[in-house]
Amino acid sequence: MTRALRRFTGDTLLIASHNPGKVREIGDLLSAYVARFPSAAEYGLDDPEETGTTFEANAELKALAAARAVGLPALADDSGLAVAALEGRPGIHSARYAERPDGRRDFAWAMDKLRREIEALGDGADRTAAFMAALTLAWPDGHTETVLGRCGGTLAWPPRGARGFGYDPIFVPAGHGITFGEMEPAAKHRMSHRADAFRQLVARCFA
Ligand code: IMP
Repeated sequence: MTRALRRFTGDTLLIASHNPGKVREIGDLLSAYVARFPSAAEYGLDDPEETGTTFEANAELKALAAARAVGLPALADDSGLAVAALEGRPGIHSARYAERPDGRRDFAWAMDKLRREIEALGDGADRTAAFMAALTLAWPDGHTETVLGRCGGTLAWPPRGARGFGYDPIFVPAGHGITFGEMEPAAKHRMSHRADAFRQLVARCFA
């Protein structure tokens, strides 16, 4: 069954995130099309449990929960790093992969754990990886539009660069010689998985 594509026509878009940096970044990216961007935090919404098994399913459940709770169209994302040699892990569990046994998030430790996991597979282990980002625009009546953005590259150790966040210091995007951690933020933001997802969503629902 084909579903009619739905475009965003309002002036207010709820951002289903509690991360102020993410809310600001999304507001900047969509400011040409949307007047107001209230956040989930402003409505006191809790994050739903991410029970999906794919990036798209988790973005959808977060966007739908927010849209239904507030009665406004809502945008949510879900992202992570998929490593070829690890059959796509840590994938949707990328944030949890960085939690030490005491619950503290530590990306230096997580990047070293990834190196050890890949080295354990032998010298020829494939070091290609991709950052992935699903973005869902959901309406209170349950309609959703979802896109999946991707940025391919390879992993390299030791980690390099203090810019960016998360796994950026070990990710060298395809066609480049430096890591996301070393790259000018504006350059990363043009080629990233999130940029790819936003380009797709704008073309589909906003432009
Ligand atoms: P979430 O989408 O907020 O659940 O977070 C996904 C996790 O994936 C983050 O905690 C980071 O570990 C990782 N991640 C997602 N995007 C990036 C990126 O652009 N650079 C580095 N790490 C990222």
